[in-house]
Amino acid sequence: MEDGINIISLKCSSCGAILEISPDMEHFACGYCGVEQIVERRGGTVALKQVSEAIARVQKATDKTAAELAIRRLTSEIADKQNDLSAEASRHDELMVQMQAKHDSNSWLMMACLGLLACLVTLCFDRLLSIIIGCFSVFFFLRYYFAQRSLNQDLEKARKLKEEATRPIREEIAKLELRLAENKAVVD
Ligand SMILES: [Zn+2]
Repeated sequence: MEDGINIISLKCSSCGAILEISPDMEHFACGYCGVEQIVERRGGTVALKQVSEAIARVQKATDKTAAELAIRRLTSEIADKQNDLSAEASRHDELMVQMQAKHDSNSWLMMACLGLLACLVTLCFDRLLSIIIGCFSVFFFLRYYFAQRSLNQDLEKARKLKEEATRPIREEIAKLELRLAENKAVVD
C-alpha cells in the first residue's frame, strides 16, 4: 500500500466531516454533504476549498484584470474625446471671433461720436451744416445700434450651435467617465 503513506485527512470545508485525500485527488464531492471540493496544494500545504469559492476567486481575478484593461482603454478613449471636444469648441470660437471682426459695429460708433463733435463745432458758425452733420451723427448711431444688436443675435446663435455640436461629445465623455469609475471600483 504505497499510496496509503501519502493519504491525508482534512475536514470538509462545508460540513466539517473528516475526509481522506489521496495525492491524485484534485476535485471531488464530499461523501457526507455532497458539496464539491477542490484540493489546493501549494507550498507544502493542502487545503480544501468549495468549488463555488474557488470559482468566485478566479472570477474576481479575471474581473480585476478585465477592469484594469478597460481602465487603460477608457482613459485613452476619454483623452481622444477631449481632444475632439476642444478641437470642435475652438473651431466654433474661431467662427465667433471672425463674426465679431466682420461686424465691426464700433467703427459706426466712432463715426457717430466724430459727427457729434463736428455738429457741436459747426453749431458756432453754421447752424444748417450743424443740423445736417447732426442728422448724419444720429444715422451713424442708429447704424451702430442695429449692427450691435444683429451681432449679439448672431453670437447667440453661434453659441447655441457650439453647444449643440459639442453636446454629443460631452455626453460620450460623461458615459466613458461613468464606465471608468465603475471599473476603478472593481480594481480598488
Ligand atoms: Zn461535507
